[in-house]
Parts: sequence; structure tokens; C-alpha cells
Amino acid sequence: MSSRRRKHWGWGFEDQQPTPVQVRASAAELGAHLGIKVGEVEDPVSLEALQLAPPRLLPPPSLVDICSEDTHARASHALGKSYVDVMRGFRGQFHHPPDFVAQPRDEGDLERVLEWCSAEAVAAVPFGGGTSVVGGVTPDVGSSFNGAISIDLGELDRVLEVDPVSRSARIQGGALGPPLESQLGAHGLTLRHFPQSFEYSTLGGWIATRAAGHFATVWTHIEDLVESVRAITPSGAWESRRLPGSGAGVSPDRMLAGSEGTLGVITEAWVRVQPRPSHRASAGVRFTSFEAGVDCVRALSQSGLHPANCRLLDPGEAALTLAGDGSHALLVLGFESTDHPVDSSMARALELCREHGGILPSSKGGSDSGDGVSSWREAFLGAPYMRDLMIAMGVLAETFETAITWERFGAFHEGVKAATEQAVREHCGEGGESSVASPTSTPTAPPPTSPCSLPPAAERRSSSGGPSSRPPPRPSSSWEAPSPTTMPSGAITGPGMTASGPSPLPPPCAGRRRRWTPLAS
Ligand SMILES: Cc1cc2nc3c(=O)[nH]c(=O)nc-3n(C[C@H](O)[C@H](O)[C@H](O)COP(=O)(O)OP(=O)(O)OC[C@H]3O[C@@H](n4cnc5c(N)ncnc54)[C@H](O)[C@@H]3O)c2cc1C
Repeated sequence: MSSRRRKHWGWGFEDQQPTPVQVRASAAELGAHLGIKVGEVEDPVSLEALQLAPPRLLPPPSLVDICSEDTHARASHALGKSYVDVMRGFRGQFHHPPDFVAQPRDEGDLERVLEWCSAEAVAAVPFGGGTSVVGGVTPDVGSSFNGAISIDLGELDRVLEVDPVSRSARIQGGALGPPLESQLGAHGLTLRHFPQSFEYSTLGGWIATRAAGHFATVWTHIEDLVESVRAITPSGAWESRRLPGSGAGVSPDRMLAGSEGTLGVITEAWVRVQPRPSHRASAGVRFTSFEAGVDCVRALSQSGLHPANCRLLDPGEAALTLAGDGSHALLVLGFESTDHPVDSSMARALELCREHGGILPSSKGGSDSGDGVSSWREAFLGAPYMRDLMIAMGVLAETFETAITWERFGAFHEGVKAATEQAVREHCGEGGESSVASPTSTPTAPPPTSPCSLPPAAERRSSSGGPSSRPPPRPSSSWEAPSPTTMPSGAITGPGMTASGPSPLPPPCAGRRRRWTPLAS
């Protein structure tokens, strides 16, 4: 295992966790922004204080050199990264730790692990980056198995082959986003798949969960980028043919896409890559109401312009991310191309915005245009770090996503907001016990479907207040943004990256570019 360890709970590495003093200083500032009184701030249960159920079985001698059964290995593979997972980990509640963790170095190791599991009736749970939000990596497998182990794919992290003619690459399933992009970057290429969890999720995990990146239109789902998949199953290796496309029968690749590890362990995939985009334009367009923005987003998504980014933030989310002051909705719009200038596409898109009542930025393009785009991007990338702080404060902030056809959007949106606010009131009480925020952002998709993510419904364990006029908190970061639509040219895409490859991230409360969190002295 790598010497730099991930936290056994929450987001990031152990050395990125702020000190208790820093956490309290950050909590005070966040509380002021959210307009809530900060009460008790909890500390996470330390690794040393954890009491895990003893393992039911130990690695056999034949596998011992690739297995770990220490507390950190077991705890850090016991939960995914949903809010509830992180909260449980924070409080030391690891009810289903794996008995041990196997980390195969190659397919041979993996085959041996699976053979042993089959022979011993032990459940095997593939583990990519562990960012599952649906319990996919938790070894809660029932009593019909003699035990359960995690298979961590972290050692299978290489780009094995690049085909520049077909613009494809063969990549191992355990490659995390930043190193994957860094290796492709050496060839001037990018996979251009950027889920919000990019920093700590893997190619195999993306395929196994049918992950969606944050691009608004065209290729944003991982399965659209996959040419073929290779997996090791309990009955041997399985590989789909590498073809640019096929109309023959059931698509074998699609069987693995979304399989959540139930059919086999994805060890490699051929994926479509492309040169890094050199033409980019971005703009933040303001709307006096969220509804006006929605109409505009629909017009844009049905226009055939195919913006790379087209995300509508309601006034609350715009304020929370420092992209606005709470008085207007904000449309984050971006275009990019490796081949041709995108100015005319942006010009037409802005025309559509104007026709729908949008207030255009005085300048466009670049990350410093002052139109809120870069603020939103930083907050988007820093959100998982912020969530760890919120958990310490007892603030619930959760994202939930859905999809709806356009003609039902208005009523649906109202219904979801009302239900969320009611649920928060019911569980936290009126006024004095809760502070409800349910800002809504709407990434687009080709018509007729409009996926809609609704982050976050926030509630406080105790105390309340109205919205604050203070600037919202923002996690510190030295990241480069993953969106080529707003990237400075020449930089490598992906958070946690520098132009020369992966860079250690500063702790969320202590970064060089920290803008909001006072460093405790
Ligand atoms: C803060 C945050 C932001 C997120 N943002 C997004 C987003 O923008 N878009 C999105 O789609 N999702 C998002 N997610 C959800 C999650 O990141 C994705 O589902 C991601 O694809 C999981 O990848 P992973 O490598 O972490 O997989 P894991 O969490 O390790 O595993 C997920 C599932 O896949 C299986 N699996 C993992 N690797 C393999 C493999 N090699 N072979 C077979 N099965 C395997 C596991 O057993 C499990 O069932 C987010 C989650 C968090 C916490």
C-alpha cells in the first residue's frame, strides 16, 4: 500500500485533515455564512480508538503478500462516500468491515484471489476509489458467505497502450482520474471524463457505475467512451471485441457498464480519447429568476449547439458558491473544441440567452472574467472536502439527482423543493432548529430528458438564522479545474494536477490560495 494513506473516513488523505483548531475556525466562518450559530463541533473518532469486529478469516499463505488486515485497511474499505457513509466513518461506525483487503498487482494475482474466494465461499467486493454513494463497496453480504474481502484495484493504474490513429487508449481499471489524465497528457490526449469525484474515483469504478462526467451534452457518460472492456470473472477472463461501433445484437460492453462489480472485476478497457481542446470560451449569464433560466437552458439544449457546459444555479446555490449574491440565478456556459474556434457557437448561445432575458457578462471567456464561473468551479471541486467540515458541525448537506422530461420539469422542481423543505422541517423543527437551503442546479442533456441535480438540502443539528450577507466559504485549493472549457491553456486537466503531473493537495483549510478559512496560529 502507498505510504501516503487516505483518511479512514471522509475525503482526501490523512495529511490533508485540518487540525481540530483549524476545523473550529473554519466552522465559525462557515456558520456565519450559512447564518447559523455553531454549537459543538465534533472530532472524528481516531483510527487508534476504532473497534472493528475481529476478522472472520485471514489471508491464506498464498495471498499474504498482497493482503492487509490492519485497522486502517479494513476501515477505509468498509464504506463508500455518501453523506451517511462519511458520517458513520466520522463517528467510528464501521459495521461491515472487510475481513481483509487484497491488492492484486496484476491479473494473475486477481485470478488467484477470486479462485480462493470461490473455493472458500468468501464474498469478493471490487473496490476502485471507494467513492460509491449507493453502498456498492460495503461488504454487507449476509450470512451465506464465510466472510467478505475487498479487492482494491489501486495497483492496476497504468495507461498500457495508446492508439493515436484511432484515438483510443488501453487503460487499467484501477487508474484514478488525475494519474490517468496525467499519463494521457504525456501523449497530448485526454479522456475528458470528469465526474465530481474525479480525484478519487477510477476508470473501473466509472464503468461499473455508468458514471457521468460534468459535461453538459454529447459524450458525458463513460459508456459512450468505452470501446471494449476486459474483466476477470470467477470463471475466467472475459473481454469484449474492440470495435468502433456495432449493431449486432445485445451490446456486451453495456453488460459490464453499471454492473457494480457483480459480473466480474474490470481490469482494463479501451476508451476513446481526444486531443486536449485548444479552443474554449466560457461565460456566466445571470437570470432574474430560476424559471427564466430553465427556459433558456431548454432552448440551448434543443438548439444543436451542444455546449460543453450548461449548468443553471439557482440564486441560493450561486450565493453559496460565491458565484452570485443570492439575487439572481446563474447559467454557467462553456464551449470547447480541439478543431475549430467556438466563438460563433458562444455568440449564438449568448443571443439565445438574451432572448430569454439573460443578463450577459461584460466580458466572456477565461477564468478571471468575474462572471462567477471560476467561483462556481472551485466550489464544485471543493465540495467533498467541505462536506467533512459540515459533518463535524452537524450540518446535513446532501446532493440528489434525477431526470425528468422538459414538459414536466416545472411542477417536478417545485414538488421536490417543497418535499425537501418539509422533510427538513419535520426532522429539525421550524425555525429554531433548522436552516433550510435547497438550491438547485440543472445540468442539461440532449432533449427530451433533463437530468437535474439538487444540491444541497442543508439542515443544522441545532440553532438557526437567516441567510447571511457574508461571502460564502470556499475550500482552499491549488487545483486546476477539470473543465477544459475554462482551463488556462497548457495546464493539465483535473483537480490535484499541475502541468507536470499529480500534485499533493493542500489541506482544505491550509492551502496557499486559501481565501476563506483563517489558519489557526
Ligand atoms: C463527492 C462525490 C461526487 C460524485 N460525483 C459523481 C459524478 O459527478 N458523476 C457520477 O456518475 N458519480 C459521482 N459520484 C459517485 C461515484 O464517484 C461514482 O459512482 C464513481 O464512478 C465510482 O468510482 P470508484 O472508482 O470510486 O468506484 P467504487 O466506489 O470503488 O465502486 C463503485 C462500484 O463499482 C464496483 N467496482 C469498482 N471498481 C470496479 C472494477 N474495477 N471492476 C468491477 N467493479 C468495480 C464496486 O464494487 C462498487 O459496486 C460522486 C460521489 C461522491 C462522493
